Amino acid sequence: MKVGFAGLGIMGAPMASNLLKAGFDLRVYNRTASRCEPLVARGAKAYSTPAELAAESDVVITIVSDTPDVEAVLFGENGLASGLKAGAVVVDMSTISPTRTVEFSKRLAEQGVSMLDAPVSGGDKGAIAGTLSIMAGGDKATFDRCMPLFEAMGKNVVYTGVSGNGQKTKMVNQVVGSVNLIAMCEGLRIAKKAGLDPEKTLDAVGGGAAGSWIWTNLGPRVVKDDFAPGFMIKLQQKDLRLASELVEDLGMDAPGTKWSYELFTKALEMGLGDDGNQGLYKVWQD
Ligand code: NAP
Repeated sequence: MKVGFAGLGIMGAPMASNLLKAGFDLRVYNRTASRCEPLVARGAKAYSTPAELAAESDVVITIVSDTPDVEAVLFGENGLASGLKAGAVVVDMSTISPTRTVEFSKRLAEQGVSMLDAPVSGGDKGAIAGTLSIMAGGDKATFDRCMPLFEAMGKNVVYTGVSGNGQKTKMVNQVVGSVNLIAMCEGLRIAKKAGLDPEKTLDAVGGGAAGSWIWTNLGPRVVKDDFAPGFMIKLQQKDLRLASELVEDLGMDAPGTKWSYELFTKALEMGLGDDGNQGLYKVWQD
């Protein structure tokens, strides 16, 4: 299987690296071409446009920032769609709009190309370790065909149903994670103000019922004043905008989604967009 990979950012670069490690015949494209170099040095072939990459691939994985970026990579000038052959597969692992995902999938189906939406969770650490959680929507037979690729990048691979369901599942993930992140920031702020030892607080709370991935992985970064990304605030705000659109479409009262979206928008307005999402802690200046 010839595997193409477009988007070598914080997530894409280590995910592509794990595909190479697993022995896949890998070819890569990135808008900023220099980001292809470490993979080319290890045997991947680089292409200068998505169309050229697509013409040489049976399956193309995309992981870029937002909905318009996936649209540009798929259908823009020299986009993947102009190079893909009938029978090829696109696996979009970005977090984007579920509604637009279904549209993209229908457009590709007109040229005989099957598309899965397979967003991920687990952060940069999970991408590096190959332990991502992958939530996939689309045709089941296509999902089964792509399983060896998913197994090289993730540990928990779940088929969620029809096209768009992967993205909807990811919205659920983002709402739960965001509310958790707000709780982690508040807990550590209270601990600091109360004069508690931050390391002991991390240990005590992390081992009990309030422990979480966010607490264990991002809490220590906050305590060390390490606000490097990980997962950037601007991307989490984008995900909460998408989740807000979903709950609005569903006609739901969802206070956690509303509250998280407001706080992450405030962080963005404060100029924290390129910080890791643990930088939400800096919204409060106490
Ligand atoms: P990132 O480091 O900012 O990387 C973004 C990638 O997308 C880069 O390769 C960038 O190319 C490319 N890109 C953006 N816009 C493009 C366009 N219009 N045309 C072509 N390429 C474009 O972001 P990331 O953290 O890897 O996140 C990527 C996706 O994964 C996002 O949807 C995010 O929500 C999701 N995600 C991230 C995490 C995380 O912890 N970071 C976790 C789960 C899911 P350049 O190199 O040229 O800029």
